[in-house]
Order: sequence, then C-alpha cells, then structure tokens
Amino acid sequence: MLSEGALAELQRQLQLQNEQFAERLRHELPALGELAGELQHSGRPAQRREQVRRIREQLHKLAGAAGSFGFGPLGERARVLEQRANRWLDSSKPSAQALGAFARAVRQFAEFAWHDGHAVPDLGPGDLHDEPLPGCRIYLLESDAVAGAGMAQTLDNFGYETLLCRDFPTLQQAVEQQLPDALIVSVSRDDELLPIAALQQRLGTPLPLLAIHADAGFASQLAAVRAGAQGFFSRPLDLAQLENSLERCLNRQQGEPYRVLIVDDDHALAERYGLVLRNSQMQVQTLSEPQRVLELMHTFNPEVLVLDVDMPGCSGPELAQMIRLHDEWLRVTIIYLSAETDINRQMAALLKAGDDFLSKPLGDSELIAAVYSHAQRARSLSTALSRDSLTGLLKHADIKDQLAIEVQRASRASKPTSVVMLDLDHFKQVNDRYGHAAGDSVIRALANLLRQRLRRIDSLGRYGGEEFVAVLPECTAEEARRIFDEIRERFATLTFNASDARSFTVSLSAGISATDGETPPAVLLEQADQALYIAKGDGRNQVRIASVG
Ligand code: GH3
Ligand code: MG
Ligand code: MG
Repeated sequence: MLSEGALAELQRQLQLQNEQFAERLRHELPALGELAGELQHSGRPAQRREQVRRIREQLHKLAGAAGSFGFGPLGERARVLEQRANRWLDSSKPSAQALGAFARAVRQFAEFAWHDGHAVPDLGPGDLHDEPLPGCRIYLLESDAVAGAGMAQTLDNFGYETLLCRDFPTLQQAVEQQLPDALIVSVSRDDELLPIAALQQRLGTPLPLLAIHADAGFASQLAAVRAGAQGFFSRPLDLAQLENSLERCLNRQQGEPYRVLIVDDDHALAERYGLVLRNSQMQVQTLSEPQRVLELMHTFNPEVLVLDVDMPGCSGPELAQMIRLHDEWLRVTIIYLSAETDINRQMAALLKAGDDFLSKPLGDSELIAAVYSHAQRARSLSTALSRDSLTGLLKHADIKDQLAIEVQRASRASKPTSVVMLDLDHFKQVNDRYGHAAGDSVIRALANLLRQRLRRIDSLGRYGGEEFVAVLPECTAEEARRIFDEIRERFATLTFNASDARSFTVSLSAGISATDGETPPAVLLEQADQALYIAKGDGRNQVRIASVG
C-alpha cells in the first residue's frame, strides 16, 4: 500500500497532468469548432472529405486522451462524433444532409464543452438536440414493398438509419459492404431463416437479430432462435414493441458512473480507496468527518456508502442507523470497512444496519469488485422502483424530484431549464375504439420516441396515465418548442394497429414553461399545464409556451 507521502505526490502529479490537458483543450476545442464551421461552407466533395478526415483525427485524439485526464464525458462525446465521421466517410452514398448535421454537432460540441474559459469536466455525454442519435444502422429484409416502406419510415422516425432490402442477396451484399448494428427480417416460412442462420455463422459474431414471422408456432420460434434471433414478432406487427426490443438488444440505455461515498476518519486511506474506485470509472467522494455525511447524502446522492467502523465521535454502525432513519435513502447500499475480524461483532453491526462487511487490509481488486457489484444491484433495484413498468420512464414522484433538482441547478447556471407537460389527444376515444392494449402500445411508442429525441441529460417521466413531463436543462422555452414541435409532427405520422388490424394515428399537445431563477418547481408545472390547456382548447395537436406575467 502507498505511504501517505507517496500518495500525495501521486495526486499532485495527476492534478498537474489534468491541468496541462485542460490547457491543451483551450486551444484545440476552438480550432475544432472552426474546422467544423468551414465544413459547413465548403464546396467540392473531395475537399469536404479531406475536412471530415481532419476533424475525425482531432476527435480521435480527444476521445483517446480526455478520459485519462478527468474529462471522461467529453471524451465519450468525442468518440460518438468520431464514429459518426467514420460512418459518413465509409458510406457509399454520403448525404449532404448528414454532413450538415455532423458539422453542426461538432460545432456545438466544441462550444458546449468549452465554457467561460474552462473545459467543462462534467459535460453531460448526452447528444445535442439537433442529432440526438449516434445513428444506429438497421438492415430490414422485407419482400412486401408497401409493408417494408412503412416500417422503414417508422424506424426512421424513431431515429434509426434504415436500409430496406427486398430479397436475401441484396441484404447479403449490404452486410458485406458494411455491417449494420442490427438486422430485422420478415419471413413467411421457416426455411427463409436458413440463409440468415448461415450468414450469422459466417460473421463469427452474430448480429443482433429480430425476426418477424407470419406464423407464431413453436417450429417458427425455434427456427428464429437458431438464426440467432433476440426478438420474435408475428403479424399484425406491434411496431412500438419491435422498437422496444430493438433498443434493448442494441443496449442503448447506458448508465452514468456509479456514485460512491467513502467515510473514513483516516483521510489518506479514504483518498487511496477513492483513487482506486475512480480509476474504475466510478464517481467518488470521500469524507473524513462523519458529521458531514447527511449533508453529502443530500448533495451527492450516493448509491453505495462505504463506512469505516471505528471512527471518533460516531461509529460506522451508528452512522448506518442514522441513514436508515430516512426512507428516501433505503436504496443506498451500506458497506462496512474495518480491521474488525471478530465475526460476532461483524454480525452485530450488520444486524443493526448495513448490507456487507469488508475486512482491512483490502486489496484493490477486492474493493472494486465488492463496491461494483453492490452498486450494480443498488442501481437496478432503484431503477426498478422508480420506473414506470409500461414505459420505463420515471414515475410521478421521481420526475417531480428530478424537476426540483434541475430547477435548483438552473438557478446557478446562466441558461434556463424548460419544463414540458405533454398529453395525448382524445386518448379516451383511442381506447374506446381500438381497445386498451392498443392504447398501451401508443403510450409505449410515445415514451420510446421521447427517449430517442431527447438528450441523456434530459429527464422524462410518466406524470399520469397519458400525460408526460420532460425537464430539459440548458434549454430555452423557444428551443424546447422547436424540439417538441418536431416530436409532435413525427408522432402524428406513426401508424398503430388495433388487434383486428385496423390502423390509426394519434396526435399530442404540449405546454412549456421555463425557469427564471425564482419560480418554484410546482409553479413551473402549473404554468406548463396551463399552456397545455390552451393548446387543447385551440384545437389540440400543437405546442404552446406559457405566457408569464
Ligand atoms: P384530451 O385531448 O382532452 O386530452 O382528451 P383525452 O380523451 O385524452 O382525455 P381524458 O383525460 O378524458 O382521457 C384520458 C384517457 O387516457 C382516459 C384513460 O382511459 C386513458 N388512459 C390513461 N392511462 C392509460 C393507460 O395506461 N393505458 C391506456 N390504454 N389508456 C390509459
Ligand atoms: Mg477508523
Ligand atoms: Mg389526453
């Protein structure tokens, strides 16, 4: 284990390196922004390709280094943009539209990541509104031209890049040219899945596959599994469910780093543990005065609490019992850390409060493994508790909590946060005409669309039955209106199927309010709700901004 002096020296060096890297960013980011600006106005195709290559090179360097110098999210974002550059360069038919969107995204990245003369280390990795997706490429095999075009259109609306293939040879050729992120194949006989199975075998790593089959029998599902399917659908097709399953198998909902709070009166030891866990991509705060723990529980909101047992003034088990007095922290896992080897005393501590016991001295990998597995479990439990089961979005109380957090954060930032209240139009009629199950799939589809069109830093909740709330940090009401108008238009083009194969569309209305540094969260919700009410009264299928004052 490192001595206290060596540890301090190591940290000093790391800090120095981080500062040097920040200095590098000070020059590189604006230069990158300029390159992207030039790209927006450049003429000849060959020249454009060269410029995209130069931008890609810059992004590649940033993506590789930023994480090591304390700018992880910035690096992640650079990586996503780099992949987009690659896709554009690799594309056989590079589109000018995609290039424009890419240039815009790079410029926003360069500007957004650089704030008030500082690189923003905790920049949300979420995509910017203009191009919210890292563009997943889907190949769709469907011999029926009309059905295929409809599906491709819907998937495009959901933000995927879809290539429609009418027969297997076309699909095979496309796969050989460039691998997709997932395959969707629609068949009417089991033997049509055989060439797909063979293709998957040739690829070595099989592609995520969803199968749509005319027949839902045992033999058909078995054939699909043998071709490597991760999802199986029969007709009439529930596109929202298909999209859900696509999202799951592309594993697009990645999480934020786990939050860990370490409390140990031995300051150097706490720092040492912190360093080890941070190196494993966890977000860590350390504390050597137990008295400050309640305050940090509020501000840092840890998922795992690592507590020393013997501390002056207040012992670990006492601290754990205090935490357990509060229901809102039930989701936090508590791990004790102590030289205590007496099994009876460990048991006594666990019986009072706490979830696990680690004995000092503790190896790095042992610490990482224990904290990581507890964090993982705490996260999935917490997600299950706070998420609505139909949509996977935050529940009523949790989106309200999130709104309160964002409003507080916004009062410190220079840009307002927008609150959007959204409601499906004439939804009662949808249920009455097409059945409750069809209604459910509409709600799910809207949730998916919202998730895809918004950034990762935005919060989304199902506020009531067919009512949703979105909180968009650093977004003016006018920007929010533009985004939700686009969502509204896209949603209105989605076609749903009732169980008797009748198809229908649904529209939505929304109301928007924005923070001004003073208005409390509850009033913001009320203002958004009033704007929604006006949108409804004005004929629905529209987005309104609250008029204030
Ligand atoms: P408006 O345009 O004024 O919003 O009309 P509306 O019919 O949408 O409004 P209303 O509030 O009268 O009806 C909402 C309906 O939403 C009533 C309820 O049956 C339906 N609903 C609420 N939650 C769910 C759900 O989870 N699933 C389904 N299928 N329907 C739901
Ligand atoms: Mg101690
Ligand atoms: Mg409604």
